Amino acid sequence: MKRQLAVLLWILSSTAALTAQKPLSVGGVTAAPGQKASGWIEIPDAADPGTRIPVSVVHGARPGPVLALVAGTHGYEYTSILALQRLLPRLDPGRMSGSAILVHMACPPTFYGRRIYYGPDGKNLNRMYPGKADGTISERIAHAITKEVIDKATHVADMHCGDGNESLRPYSYWMVSGNEVVDAGSKEMALAFGLDHIVIDRERPSDPERTLYTSNTAVRRGKPAITVESGGMGLTDEASVRAQEAGALSVMAHLGMLEAPSVRVERPLWIDRAQVITAPATGVWQPAVEKMQSVATGTLLGRLTDPFGNLLHELRAPFSGEVLYVVATPPASAGEPLAFVARLAESEPRP
Ligand SMILES: [Zn+2]
Repeated sequence: MKRQLAVLLWILSSTAALTAQKPLSVGGVTAAPGQKASGWIEIPDAADPGTRIPVSVVHGARPGPVLALVAGTHGYEYTSILALQRLLPRLDPGRMSGSAILVHMACPPTFYGRRIYYGPDGKNLNRMYPGKADGTISERIAHAITKEVIDKATHVADMHCGDGNESLRPYSYWMVSGNEVVDAGSKEMALAFGLDHIVIDRERPSDPERTLYTSNTAVRRGKPAITVESGGMGLTDEASVRAQEAGALSVMAHLGMLEAPSVRVERPLWIDRAQVITAPATGVWQPAVEKMQSVATGTLLGRLTDPFGNLLHELRAPFSGEVLYVVATPPASAGEPLAFVARLAESEPRP
């Protein structure tokens, strides 16, 4: 009798644990189960002026995965910022299993300052992870997103497009870390997001203290993650915004968070070799190719001149493939990207 009572109590308590979700807090935002709330992650002034990051927490009535959707890491990349504005009213936490953390704009100083690549501290937020609590603004933002968003999520989608100067065709990155379970989860997320060109990326750093990238920070903490790219050049075209919105919804469906079908890429084009062509010198860039264009080894990608028009360098394709993005405006600083050339794999990769 005593044993039966104990079993009954155990069943009751474990059922209660399954059905009663605790509130979910991100920064200054707390949502009760079955509710959504919006507010801010405050980044106080320190070495330089602080900011506040707009976030929404959509906390499902039932437990499940916690998907972080991070928009606007680069503030001139508008498609993801607009996509999350559209997504928020479409999410009904009362019908969701699991929760979504929407980071509407990871780096407000780059958005309001119309900055490409770099924050006001001259640093690229997507090279600062896991960040520093006492660093400059980009480092403090990275630290806050690591602690408040990535650490509270089970899955992460970092949403980008070509920056204000980049003409880009849609694609995603599948980061392969060597952790088979995580890598398999990330691969399925990439397929569910719906962009058919998928770059297989095996070269992100493994040191947890130097993960640099948003998605890699999640992956190295054992959480499946993807980076997606749709749009560019500071545009807000419908197709690019819709691809971000639809991709986020499809990943949520794939994870079982929504009672909706997930869309999966039927014929993924895996990219097993990709190279960012960087500027060998500072100068004036004139591209000779467009996004999506096929190139052969040696095809002229563009010319770099000095301010007077004298040729400094001709940049050529290092191998045959497709142009995923090309910088389409003239400023070029030494070491910065000018084009991204990719080669399609012959077969589906493992794991
Ligand atoms: Zn970006």
